[in-house]
Amino acid sequence: MNKGMGGKVSPTHFAEMELPEEFGGAAKALTEFIGGCGAGRIYCSIEHNGDIQPCVFIPVKVGNVLKDGFVNVWKNSQILNSLRDRDAENYACHTCPFRYVCGGCRARAYAYHGDLLAPDPGCIIMKKDWENIVREMKAEMNTKTPVPVLSK
Ligand code: SF4
Repeated sequence: MNKGMGGKVSPTHFAEMELPEEFGGAAKALTEFIGGCGAGRIYCSIEHNGDIQPCVFIPVKVGNVLKDGFVNVWKNSQILNSLRDRDAENYACHTCPFRYVCGGCRARAYAYHGDLLAPDPGCIIMKKDWENIVREMKAEMNTKTPVPVLSK
């Protein structure tokens, strides 16, 4: 950020917080809002046919611009609203002190668990979740008959 400001701010997915006094908490509030996964909170994606998704990496339709109207979907979608409430008990990160500046990647949680509010397997705090996934994948691989790599 600006030189000579006495600190640095990276209000991105992974925020650094070293703020000068004069920011008086405003930058922290901004970073908490912007920080972390923005899916359905500060952005969404709109597909070529008007379908609205929380993020380009989350293939979940929450409405359609042409049929439902963007503002209506943005304000009233139950899915988008659930992504905004990091204190909800069913949000995997709800007890984590970093939840307002992180919140985990919701696309990764969905890809691995089929649940937008599930743990992010890429999180070091959720390491056990990743270990469980690896264990399950290994067990599944051991029960499958190998597919021939080359045909005759
Ligand atoms: S539990 Fe992990 S993914 Fe969730 S907010 Fe905390 S650090 Fe981020």
